[in-house]
Amino acid sequence: MHLATNDTDTLFKQQQIIYGVDIGGTKIEIGLFSSDLKFIDSWRTLTPTDNYSEFINTIVNLIKEADRRCGKKGFVGIGMPGIIDKDGLVKSANVPCATGRNIVEDLNKALEFEISIGNDCRLFALSESVGGAGDLYKSVYGAIIGTGAAGGFCIDGKLHNGRSGFAGEYGHLPVSAYLINKYNLPILDCGCGLKGCYESYVSGPGLGWIYNYYGSQTTDTKHFVRKLREDDRIAVTTFNCYMDFLGASFASLVLSYDPDIIVMGGGVSKIDEVVDSLQAHVNKHLFSGVDCPPIVRAKYGDSSGVRGAAILRKQLLEN
Ligand SMILES: [Zn+2]
Repeated sequence: MHLATNDTDTLFKQQQIIYGVDIGGTKIEIGLFSSDLKFIDSWRTLTPTDNYSEFINTIVNLIKEADRRCGKKGFVGIGMPGIIDKDGLVKSANVPCATGRNIVEDLNKALEFEISIGNDCRLFALSESVGGAGDLYKSVYGAIIGTGAAGGFCIDGKLHNGRSGFAGEYGHLPVSAYLINKYNLPILDCGCGLKGCYESYVSGPGLGWIYNYYGSQTTDTKHFVRKLREDDRIAVTTFNCYMDFLGASFASLVLSYDPDIIVMGGGVSKIDEVVDSLQAHVNKHLFSGVDCPPIVRAKYGDSSGVRGAAILRKQLLEN
């Protein structure tokens, strides 16, 4: 994270355009916002994942194109999946060429301008906390359940990063031994290098894995949802097991963060049956006297990446 200098602060007041850049494993999107976060425009391009200089050039070209369209330079916030340490070093499975590189330094050099960067799941939480589904709440946990399971925690519209920027990584907490035993499931290896992380069971691929484990020929979650609505035995068994795991994982984050509201995004959040019954499943894993706060769907959904990155930049400029 890089704080603004007085010079950039003055410039910000004159220019008032902020770009949010959302880097994903397949595409990079740029969103243009006014300083009061009104959406102006957005477009996207493919992510070069294997060639680092091509990757940096692609981001630089997106930003230069935005400058050209706006007729002036905008301020830049960037979000991307993976671990970004406090010095700006990146470790990302989705963008392998960026691993071990310092994107902040390299982009600052290429643009001759200071940018800010954050983890995409943390920025999702920030976007939902500022003007999103959690806007009226003091403390907001934003959880993305999609290709992975991660999130971020905000208080008063500001991200709580923790000492190293990892606060919110609840998907890599170990699953409950009680649940592994109850469903007689194997302990799965996780992409993070640990074993038995919640992410392996509660992410979209985790749901597909459970469906397959209980006898489906496919891991396709759309197929699962269709069969669940037909009351198919395998789909119903999968749903009950999955919701128990997801409920337990959210109970862990309720006990860790005690948020006023949980906002959910990602592919799994599009399944009504999951969102509608999740609060009850979380409560089954909380001891007496503790209850789960409301769980709602994200307001900005897929556009929260660019929006969160723009908010991050705006907040750092204002500090
Ligand atoms: Zn893990």
